[in-house]
Amino acid sequence: MKSAKFFEKGTVFSLEVFPPKRTNPVESISGALEAFSALAPDFISVTYGAAGSNNSEKTLEIVNTIRTKFGVEGVAHLACVNLSRERAREILGEMKALGIENVLALRGDIPAGAEPLGEFRHASDLVEFIKGESADFNVLAACYPEGHFECANLVEDIKNLRKKVDAGVDHLVSQLFFDNDFFYAFLERCELAGIDVPVEAGIMPVVNKKQIERMATLCRVKLPKKFVAMMERYEHNALAMRDAGIAYAVDQIVDLVSQGVRGIHLYTMNNPYIAQRIHEATASLIRCAC
Ligand code: FAD
Repeated sequence: MKSAKFFEKGTVFSLEVFPPKRTNPVESISGALEAFSALAPDFISVTYGAAGSNNSEKTLEIVNTIRTKFGVEGVAHLACVNLSRERAREILGEMKALGIENVLALRGDIPAGAEPLGEFRHASDLVEFIKGESADFNVLAACYPEGHFECANLVEDIKNLRKKVDAGVDHLVSQLFFDNDFFYAFLERCELAGIDVPVEAGIMPVVNKKQIERMATLCRVKLPKKFVAMMERYEHNALAMRDAGIAYAVDQIVDLVSQGVRGIHLYTMNNPYIAQRIHEATASLIRCAC
C-alpha cells in the first residue's frame, strides 16, 4: 500500500530502522523486526548508507522481509549523492520486482573532502527521476523543522522544499526535533509556501547523552533547557536516562497528537524495548478516532 494512503485512516504511526553493520546478516535483526511489526505500525522505513556502492541490497532485503514475513508495509530509503542514473534505474527495477512501491528519496550527506558523483544534485532530482521511471512509485522525502544545516535561512529552505514537493513528493517525514514549537512553526511555513502533502513528525527517544549531542551538532538541532537539564541529571545512570528519554518522547507525542499532527515517525535506533514502551503509552491517543 502507498504510504500516503494511510493518512486517509487518521494519524499515521511509523517506525524507522537501519540495516545491521556490513558483516552482520539481515537475520541478526530479525527478532527486532518481528518486535517492531508486532506494534502494528502503518509502515516501517529502512535507511540506506549513502557512502558505499551496494547499500541498497540490505535495505531492500529488510523491506522485503518486513512486508512478506511480518505483513507490515515497508519504505526503502534511497540516497542519490553517490548514485548514477543507471544504478538508480536498476535499484528501482529491483524494488518493482519485489513489489516495493514506497521510496524515501534523499540526497544523502556529502562526505567531507569527497566529490559527490554529481548525476543527481538534490533530492528533488531523484524524486523527479523516480516519478519519471514509474508514476506507480509513492515517493517520500525528508524535511527539516529547524532548517537544513547547509541552507542559509529558513525562507530558502522552504522554497527548496517546495521545489522538491513539486517534483512529485507524496509525503514528508521530518528530521528529529526536541521542541515541538519548531515543528508547528515549520507547518505554518509549509502552509504559506503552498506545501500541502502530509508531514510526519520525526521523534527520537534519547537514551544516551553523547549520542544526542553528536547528532544535535551534526543536524543543527536545538536542545531545549529542560531537555539539557534532564540529560545532565541522568547521564551517569543508564536506566534513569533511558526512562527520562522515553518520558520526554511520550510528552512530545502527546502534545503533537493533541495538536492534530498527521503522523508520528519514531526513530527506533533498532531498539524494540524503547519503541514498545512509547507505543504502550501513546497508541490509544494516536489511534483515537476523535
Ligand atoms: P535535499 O532535499 O537535496 O536538500 C539538501 C540541501 O540542499 C538543503 O539545504 C536544501 O535547502 C538544499 N536544496 C534542495 N534543493 C535545492 C535546489 N533545487 N536548489 C538549491 N538548493 C537546494 N541519509 C542517508 O544517507 N540515508 C538515509 O537513509 C537517510 N534517511 C533520512 C531520513 C529522514 C526522515 C531525514 C530527515 C534524513 C535522512 N537522511 C538520510 C539524512 C539526509 O540524507 C541529509 O540530511 C542530507 O544532508 C540532505 O538530504 P535531503 O534529501 O534532505 O537533501
